[in-house]
Amino acid sequence: MKNLTNFDEDSFAVYKDAVKRKRDITKKNVLIGLESRIEPQFILYAEKFNDKKIYEITSLGFDDAEKSVLIDLYQYNSYVIRSLKNKILDKQIATINATCQYCTLNSVETLDHFIPKEEFPEFSVNPLNLLPCCPTCNSKKSYLCFDGEESLFLNLYLDELPNKKYLKAEFDFNNDIPLVTFSLYNPENIDRINFRTIRNHYERLNLLERMREKSNEIITEIINSLRTYYKLDSDIESLKNFIVDEENENKEAYGYNYWKSVLRLSLIQYDEFWKKYIINQ
Ligand SMILES: [Zn+2]
Repeated sequence: MKNLTNFDEDSFAVYKDAVKRKRDITKKNVLIGLESRIEPQFILYAEKFNDKKIYEITSLGFDDAEKSVLIDLYQYNSYVIRSLKNKILDKQIATINATCQYCTLNSVETLDHFIPKEEFPEFSVNPLNLLPCCPTCNSKKSYLCFDGEESLFLNLYLDELPNKKYLKAEFDFNNDIPLVTFSLYNPENIDRINFRTIRNHYERLNLLERMREKSNEIITEIINSLRTYYKLDSDIESLKNFIVDEENENKEAYGYNYWKSVLRLSLIQYDEFWKKYIINQ
């Protein structure tokens, strides 16, 4: 999981462009009529974004017709949104820009409205409110994003990810392959509020379980490659050092608590793992 770089061009120009391209004249006129109310909201969003206080934004009241036209302005396959998505992705590091950073499990296939468009229809096409993600994460994000000031999800534009451990992998060795359990912990004293947001994010997106489900395949690959290496060189310490070096590079590329690195680094620390799955094979 890596922080993302936000869109830094004129956000309201995106709204105007989306309105300009609207074919339905009745809806278009509603949207043009709303411009003078929505522009100050975009300015407010940018200010609160810069102050990292977007939970302070309140929505303008819209009637049902206005609300539906505003929500409808966001069409994932429209020219405006597709080109916006490409612009946002182009700002990210190439190693991670195709992968959902909410979970680091799936491909980016959609844009999440960090503040839900149902609650804040005026931000349906506000680039600062749109984060690339996978459909699973998007569907797990509810209509809530804050509980008072408490963030229920990580905003990867705003919530700085710590370079400290918070994800832990432990194993059960009573099976054909080691079975992993992931959990969160805070051994390096991550700031209380930051850690609470991380925990909320992992719980609400069910990340520990989703990572576990994908792990057996990874563990099998680790075992198979280590068996091959072990046949070539039975010096376990040098194999361990090799993996540690490799995973430190991966952490740099994919994030300090990247689940595959945490899994691999933890697994190689167990003597039981080497004895049962590598040496005695
Ligand atoms: Zn995801």
